[in-house]
Amino acid sequence: MAKIQMKNAIAELDGDEMTRVLWEVIKEKLLNPFIDLKVEYYDLGLKARDDSNDGVTYEAAAAIKRLGVGVKCATITSNAARVTEYKLKQLTPSPNGIIRAELDGTVFRKPIILKNIRPSVSCWKKPLILGRHAYGDVYKNCEMETDGPGKAELVFTKADGTEIRKTIMEMKGPGILQGIHNLDASIESFARACFFYGLSEKLDVWFATKDTISKIYDGTFKQIFQHIYDTEYKEKFEQAGIEYFYTLIDDAVARVMKSEGGFLWACKNYDGDVMSDMVASASGSLAMMTSVLVSPDGVFEYEAAHGTVQRHYYKYLEGEKPSTNPVALIFAWTGALAKRAELDRTPELSDFANRLEKATLDLIESGTMTGDLSRLADPPAKEIVNSWQFIDLIAEKL
Ligand code: NAP
Ligand code: MG
Repeated sequence: MAKIQMKNAIAELDGDEMTRVLWEVIKEKLLNPFIDLKVEYYDLGLKARDDSNDGVTYEAAAAIKRLGVGVKCATITSNAARVTEYKLKQLTPSPNGIIRAELDGTVFRKPIILKNIRPSVSCWKKPLILGRHAYGDVYKNCEMETDGPGKAELVFTKADGTEIRKTIMEMKGPGILQGIHNLDASIESFARACFFYGLSEKLDVWFATKDTISKIYDGTFKQIFQHIYDTEYKEKFEQAGIEYFYTLIDDAVARVMKSEGGFLWACKNYDGDVMSDMVASASGSLAMMTSVLVSPDGVFEYEAAHGTVQRHYYKYLEGEKPSTNPVALIFAWTGALAKRAELDRTPELSDFANRLEKATLDLIESGTMTGDLSRLADPPAKEIVNSWQFIDLIAEKL
């Protein structure tokens, strides 16, 4: 069989631990036999990032921008323990943080729903899609510890040199401080990306902040969303029979748990970080969720929403073959390949991406699955397999 050809390359960002191991198996068993893969490869493994002082992460982000499509494996965000474990020169910042700041935009996360996997939240009948703002806030913060009493101030120096100054706190003892920011332009593109997604998928859009407490910061998010909705999307939403709904974040969380799903929940960066893990695990498993970063200039980065599955990796290093679920990694690839196919107009590549997704989901629906899913399967799993067996069975179906 002739291999499927690609017109243009995808930026491939390799990662760490268990996901790096499975990444290689997926390429070997599910992609290389069928496609003449055209990629620009960047090693974002922790050691390579440390050796290059994060240079490789910035190069990878530039490649995604240049090529239009990227696919990323999960990566370790270093902490003190990792510095010792990997003998690092320094604590490196989160690579996802770097890439999101470079690309700006919004991360859309959608659970993969299957007939035989029951969500833990029984009223969720349709996928609940999360739109996470991928720029700023606590992910681009500036923090400090203070060792005694003093006055904390917020100072903004304008381009003309004049200053605006506000007192944060007269601190009576040692403490901690944090400065965060966002940009109107980034919030505007976040709002547009969410309304555009809602309209194209015919989904209501929910947005929530804490504007009662944070009147300027969160208040600006609320105002910008409302303005863009009123001036650019209101009519189109009414014609499509869908709604934009704004509420306080606490109210949103309570309503989400009682809803039947089937809408786009636009979340500020931090809310999206934590809520997408909640939605994913309540829908089955962290591995049953697709994740794509969409930048305002039409650049797409596909990734798995979960981490490097460290606990499974340590078992693997001891010679075990863990039952780690590779679905989110496979869907990162199929998402990127399908987007490449759409941009390049190569229908055979998009057809392949569809077939690979279908083969994966058919296998689980036939009762063969990894351990994480077996806990939620109804009817019960027929067969629980390790990751290698799971991928081999998909290859057979393909
Ligand atoms: P994690 O890798 O998401 O795993 C947490 C737990 O969730 C696992 O121990 C496992 O539970 C379950 N799990 C996650 N993915 C799974 C899968 N594909 N199949 C089966 N079970 C799965 O989070 P972590 O262990 O807290 O973090 C490990 C590393 O990942 C950290 O260094 C962190 O910095 C990094 N991280 C990276 C990203 C990213 O690159 N996007 C995101 C988050 C975290 P059981 O152990 O109960 O089986
Ligand atoms: Mg998270």
